[in-house]
This record gives sequence, structure tokens and C-alpha cells, in this order.
Amino acid sequence: MDSVNNTPKKKLAIGWFSFTCCEDSTILLTELLNQNLDAWKKLVDFKYIRQLKTKNDMSNLDVAFIEGAASSKKQENEMQSIRANAKYVIAIGSCAVTGLPSATRNQFVDIELNEKIQWYIKTFSYGQKVKKLDEVVKVDDYVAGCPMNVDLFKQTLDKYLKVFGII
Ligand code: SF4
Repeated sequence: MDSVNNTPKKKLAIGWFSFTCCEDSTILLTELLNQNLDAWKKLVDFKYIRQLKTKNDMSNLDVAFIEGAASSKKQENEMQSIRANAKYVIAIGSCAVTGLPSATRNQFVDIELNEKIQWYIKTFSYGQKVKKLDEVVKVDDYVAGCPMNVDLFKQTLDKYLKVFGII
């Protein structure tokens, strides 16, 4: 403990990242911060969270939370870069955990519809298939739900605060 202000020296360095999705888990997180920010900021260093901060740093993360699926090679590269900078990676929400609903187009069986979406795929450099997170990088934990299950998210955060000896 810090003898001056009574807060732990080591904080959990986290990043929060969003890919192809509706970002409702991010909205849930901001709602959680309404009640938990004072407690969490003593324990957690929010190093990267673009929805809330303009200055972000994704280097040397303890835990990266990733919501959304990968719909392009560019997004896959970004996910791999996050993985390389984080000790643990957590999939947040159904789109990251299972791919769905963001990966719905993978299941289209209508040939005419599939031909139409080829324009979008080419124009916006999308991949032929939308991928869930663990098809792109190794994932250490999963917080399912659409949006994420809040209790499970809190349990997972607590788990990693304990893994790093912070609580
Ligand atoms: S899992 Fe549901 S709430 Fe979360 S990003 Fe996907 S569609 Fe939105």
C-alpha cells in the first residue's frame, strides 16, 4: 500500500476495444462507471478507452477487453496487435464470443443476396467471412451476453484484479 494516500501501488492496466458491433457493452460499461468509477480508479488504470478519453496508450496492457467481431483483415491485424500488447484478452459480448449477431451475413443462403453484398465487401475491403474473436487471436476468458452479462463482467474484472495481486 502507498503510505501517503492509502491506495495500492499497482493498478490493473486495461484497454477496452470495439470492433464490428453496436457497442452496447461499451454503453453498459459507461453506466457501470457511474457507480463504480471512484472505487475502480483506485484499482484500475484505464490506459485505452477511446470512447471516454482522447489520449490512449495500448502498450503493456495487463488485460484487453474486446467487444465485436472482425469483419476485415484490417480489424484482424488490429486485434493481433492488441493481443501482442496484452497479457490477457477477454472477449466481451456475444459478437466477440460467438460472432453473432454481427456475423449474420455468414449464414445467408440466398445466392442473389450474397451477390449483392459482394459490392459492399469489395468497396469497404470487408472479409468474405465475419470472424469471432478466438478465430483471430487467443482468448483467455469470455463474457457472454448481448449485451455483456454485467455480473459476469464484474466477476471477470475481480478475477484479474486477483491474478495481478491488486485485491
Ligand atoms: S453482442 Fe449484442 S450488444 Fe454486444 S455488440 Fe453485439 S449486438 Fe451489440
